[in-house]
Amino acid sequence: MTDPILIKDHIRQIPDFPKPGILFYDISTLLAHGPAWRATVDRLADAIGKMRPDKLIGIESRGFLVAAPVAYRLGCGFVMVRKRGKLPGSVIPHSYELEYGTDTVEIQTDAVKPHERVVVLDDLLATGGTMRAAIELLRKVGADVVAAAFVIELNFLGGRHRLDVPVTSIVSYD
Ligand code: 5GP
Repeated sequence: MTDPILIKDHIRQIPDFPKPGILFYDISTLLAHGPAWRATVDRLADAIGKMRPDKLIGIESRGFLVAAPVAYRLGCGFVMVRKRGKLPGSVIPHSYELEYGTDTVEIQTDAVKPHERVVVLDDLLATGGTMRAAIELLRKVGADVVAAAFVIELNFLGGRHRLDVPVTSIVSYD
C-alpha cells in the first residue's frame, strides 16, 4: 500500500517534557491532522484485523484514542484498562513495579470473557512496563492476548523484548 501521508511528519518532538532531559513524542499534532490520523488508524486496522480479535483494549489515556477508532473500523468491542479508582462497579486490579514505587491498573470484572482474543493498544512503546502490566492484568481475567500494538515504538529502549506477545508499531525511532 503506497501511503502519501508521512505519518512521522505529524509527530512532534518536545524536548524536556515532562522532565529535563526527556524527549517527548507528541501525538497531538498527528491527531489534529485528519488525513494523517486516518492513515494511522487504517494501518493499525489492517495489521490488527488479520489477528481476528474479539476485543481491542485501550490503555489509559492516549491508548483510548488509538484503540477506539480501530475497534470501530473492525467492528470489535473496545475495553478500557484504567488507573486505580476510575472504573465503576466490580474491577480486577493488578499492581506493578515502577522505577520508584508501584502503580495499579484495573479492568471491569465482566469486560472480557475467558479465552476471548484481545489486542492491547497504546500510543507509544518505551520500556514496555505499561503494556506488560496491562497484559498481566488481562491474563488474570483469562483473556487470550494475541498482540500488542502501538502508533510509535522507541527501538532504543528495547520495550518489545520485555513483551511475550507479537508487537506491531506504525512508526519507530532508532
Ligand atoms: P513504557 O511503560 O513503555 O516505558 O512507557 C509507555 C507509556 O508512557 C505509554 O502509556 C505512553 O503513553 C507513555 N509515554 C512515555 N513516553 C512517551 C512519549 O514520549 N510520548 C507519548 N505520547 N507517550 C509517552
